[in-house]
Amino acid sequence: MSRIWNFSAGPAALPEEVLRQAQEDLLDWHGAGCSVMEMSHRGKEFMSIIAQAEADLRELMGIPEQYKVLFLQGGATQQFAQIPINLLAGRSADYIVTGSWSKKAYKEAQRIGNVRCAATTESSGFTRLPVAEEIKLDPFAAYLHVCTNETIHGVEIPAERIADTGVPLVADMSSHILSRPVNVEKFGLIYAGAQKNIGPSGVTLVVVHRDLLGMAPLNIPTVMDYAVMAENGSMLNTPPTFGIYIAGLVFQWLKRQGGLSGIATVNAKKARILYSAIDDSDGFYTNPVDPDCRSAMNVPFILGNADLDAAFLAEAKAAGVLGLKGHKSVGGMRASIYNAVSLEAVQALVAFMNDFAKRNG
Ligand SMILES: *Cc1c(COP(=O)(O)O)cnc(C)c1O
Repeated sequence: MSRIWNFSAGPAALPEEVLRQAQEDLLDWHGAGCSVMEMSHRGKEFMSIIAQAEADLRELMGIPEQYKVLFLQGGATQQFAQIPINLLAGRSADYIVTGSWSKKAYKEAQRIGNVRCAATTESSGFTRLPVAEEIKLDPFAAYLHVCTNETIHGVEIPAERIADTGVPLVADMSSHILSRPVNVEKFGLIYAGAQKNIGPSGVTLVVVHRDLLGMAPLNIPTVMDYAVMAENGSMLNTPPTFGIYIAGLVFQWLKRQGGLSGIATVNAKKARILYSAIDDSDGFYTNPVDPDCRSAMNVPFILGNADLDAAFLAEAKAAGVLGLKGHKSVGGMRASIYNAVSLEAVQALVAFMNDFAKRNG
């Protein structure tokens, strides 16, 4: 068996230890005589799995008592609608647009109600964060929405730049959740599709302050109502049981890595060596993002000579390095270096990039 060096943007690499554990448990989970996929979500076995997953997540992120943890379905994209459906309550909300994902969230919210764009960096090609003077906030907004890591453009908001604005902050953290310590209390609601840094696709994590529950109009579908989901412990209906189980294994793996500060140290090192390889390549590779907001998780880069793109990808593949093709909307390359992508994997990528540049520069 040989595993690739996997830089896919999502679904993405999972820790090998987690996959091995899942393999070991697959036919008979802890003596239950069946797989997690085959057991009732209301039985004591699965109830223990979801309770442990929530407890481990609370410990990792330091989630206070007054926040609910929901394991939902529908992906981050469903949250683009579910958030305004639940939180607008006839008011308006502000969106800061810093890349494709926050733009999509803003557009989807426009279908639901009254929302404003408080700032956008689209005219700069989504390569920077807006400066304070560019951000026009409505002090009466129901919430302010941000995407703290733009997966396609590789723009990440540094933790120290997440400021209190006086309205609940709602954050799409899909592609960098659990990659660094987070102060949950700064946020009203945090959400993330699982398939980047949590586990398999099909699980969507929502961490929501209880003050934001119960504001939804009465005529919305029950499965869309956060308050109903919270009251039912994410089990109004059948939750994505196998995905929650794998997410739970990932949380335990993260605890063994020293929690979020432990993994953040490794992530910073991975990002440093990859950005250095790009910046030190004399323009063979370039990354267009302002150095003060470059993502530690998604590293887009272009080759100075785009005619070499196909050869770059083919030779990378031959070297066992996969998942580097950039998003179709921006082209070029992108290396996603999520938690489960090891330092060794990034070193293999950098060695390949240096060698390719040497041969083609
Ligand atoms: C991948 C991604 C999404 C979309 O997630 P789905 O689970 O496919 O709906 C939304 N926001 C961000 C930041 C993402 O990286």
